[in-house]
Amino acid sequence: MPQTVRVVVPTPAHSSLSEPLTYSSELPLAAGCLVRVPLGRREVCGVVWDAAPAGAQGAIPAKLKAIGAPLVELPPLSANWRQLVTFAANYYQRSLGEVALAALPPQLRELDAGQLARRLRRAQPDAVAPAVNAGPALTPEQGQALAAIEAEPGPFLLFGATGSGKTEVYLHAVQTLLEREPRAQALVLVPEINLTPQLQARFVERFGATAVVPLHSGMTNPQRLRSWLAAHAGQARIVLGTRMAIFASLPRLRLIVVDEEHDPSYKQQEGARYSARDLAVYRGRLEGAKVVLGSATPSLESWQACDRGRYRRLEMPSRIGAGALPRVRLVDMNHQPKHTLFSAPLLAAIRERIARGEQSLVFLNRRGYAPVLACGSCEWRSDCPHCSAYRVFHKIDRTLRCHHCGFTERVPRACPACGNVDIAPLGRGTERLEEQLAELLADARRPDGQLARIARMDADSTRHKGALEEQLAQVHSGEVDVLVGTQMVTKGHDFRSITLVAAVNPDSALFSSDFRAPERLFSLLMQAAGRAGRDAAQAAASEMWVQTWHPGHPLFAALKRHDFPAFAEQQLKERQQAAMPPFAYQAVLRAEARTQEVAQQFLQAAATASAALNAGGHVVVYSPVPMTVQRVANVERAQLLLESGSRPALQGFLAAWQPELQAQRPRGLIRWAVDVDPLVI
Ligand code: ADP
Ligand code: ZN
Ligand code: ZN
Repeated sequence: MPQTVRVVVPTPAHSSLSEPLTYSSELPLAAGCLVRVPLGRREVCGVVWDAAPAGAQGAIPAKLKAIGAPLVELPPLSANWRQLVTFAANYYQRSLGEVALAALPPQLRELDAGQLARRLRRAQPDAVAPAVNAGPALTPEQGQALAAIEAEPGPFLLFGATGSGKTEVYLHAVQTLLEREPRAQALVLVPEINLTPQLQARFVERFGATAVVPLHSGMTNPQRLRSWLAAHAGQARIVLGTRMAIFASLPRLRLIVVDEEHDPSYKQQEGARYSARDLAVYRGRLEGAKVVLGSATPSLESWQACDRGRYRRLEMPSRIGAGALPRVRLVDMNHQPKHTLFSAPLLAAIRERIARGEQSLVFLNRRGYAPVLACGSCEWRSDCPHCSAYRVFHKIDRTLRCHHCGFTERVPRACPACGNVDIAPLGRGTERLEEQLAELLADARRPDGQLARIARMDADSTRHKGALEEQLAQVHSGEVDVLVGTQMVTKGHDFRSITLVAAVNPDSALFSSDFRAPERLFSLLMQAAGRAGRDAAQAAASEMWVQTWHPGHPLFAALKRHDFPAFAEQQLKERQQAAMPPFAYQAVLRAEARTQEVAQQFLQAAATASAALNAGGHVVVYSPVPMTVQRVANVERAQLLLESGSRPALQGFLAAWQPELQAQRPRGLIRWAVDVDPLVI
């Protein structure tokens, strides 16, 4: 007896097909089954969402297409998983089909039933975590945090200093869970897995290699499928992944950990622009799983959620052992000779470290040699011909590279405009920092008499596969004395012999037009400071140096005291006065077009259409403006900001706005997208 089933298929982002499509099926199919269905002239993979409404069950319209092969070997995706996808699609204003299919591993969509059955058999049997290597005894602070996680519902914000043993708390929370319920599952999210191979090693060491599966975009499709199936079949105990892993199918999910919850990489910047951290909280509530968000510098959103009693704050202010946080030293650049890059006291402090056989870490958030190359006798600058940005000078391979579109050329021998041979770099990036530091420290010697070694770590130096691991190994083994890098070097690493960390030029963020810039800077500096003095024996002498033109800035005052709560309180007060997030909710509509006029015309029409939907005036619709980097790869970009004091009002507005947006089709418009809770506006 044929049935009708509603199937979610991969649909474009803003499609009127965003509802499930109805097909007929010879067999009854459970919701959550994977099926192959005809769509236009193609056959695609889809997910059975539900049976068609009861009324439709009697007569099946003849024109209804029949589903193809169901993948019956695969256990259906759970109702909770489907609800998570539904919520994410609605909240982030994308089609159900796009979100659902993007959440599945690409290879799953291509396998036939036989191939799938073979892979599933390989995923069995259940890997039960070995009764183990129990890890160190918890400190009283860790013990209290763990006890609260056990006893209370959460969600929890584990506010623990860098090196306070947060990871150990996650490990124990998982361990306690698996002792109580051996077949339970935990999801552990990290910002960038490649930067923290140690974390994976710690989980594997504690729970065994088969119990822990990774899930991130750096994996090949077969690897991803293997991990995904192990999680979906209930075999894997712990999924350790990046933001995409929030959509992993975990039938017995009981615990979600979001490590470094403040990290911007939890926000997806393309397609469905979801926040994996926010979805973690939603998913925890949906599935009855505990949620632990951890950070030494929480996002102000999470911090305020604690103030309002929505999250429970757990504090671990002390470093493990005798480890102390480094002393913060500000260098007032107003009192330094003109054009000083490294102030004399900072240089002396680095030399001292080298002489003692300790390591230093120097960071600057700009890669390349110099951000611009300029002609000394005319107006020529190294503009990118395709973007409204300069191309960056990379001295190592003598190229000018656009960091927005990738356009790369050899550095010209002479000025392309006037022929002058005297073209010079302006400003500095990590390459130049490395070069200058090498000159300044050319005669510095380590205790073994060898000359000091300077190394650089950034997106350029780690581009090739394995390079990052190799460089990290060199730092850990003590081959490197001074490590220069971008913020990549400040994240998460457990470097044991670094006793000095220096930010050479962090000021620009103090006066940025981006209201989140101070929050990001404070967190970057605190995280960087957290790399120093992790070894208790050296902790007393560890220092964080900051060169600044504004030593009196309140941000630095709070940094000196390692006082995140004071910083957060001051920032939240400012945000409240200005009615900014987290006291208001934002969304942006972004448009890309052949010309700026068309992009803005689309946004203006959208703004006009919004007037009728916004009768209560609960949503403020601003005027269209060009984006900060207005043109990228010859595409003009503009955006429209929306703000509301009420999340439901904004959500209701956005939902009603969708059809209006889809109806606007000016010639020359390339694409548009809504970004809900944008991180950068
Ligand atoms: P965080 O995640 O807060 O930066 P970690 O969990 O990585 O801190 O802990 C920092 C260091 O202290 C690690 O080397 C870890 O092995 C060690 N450590 C953590 N907890 C304990 C403990 N209870 N006893 C001994 N060492 C610990
Ligand atoms: Zn010139
Ligand atoms: Zn470019």
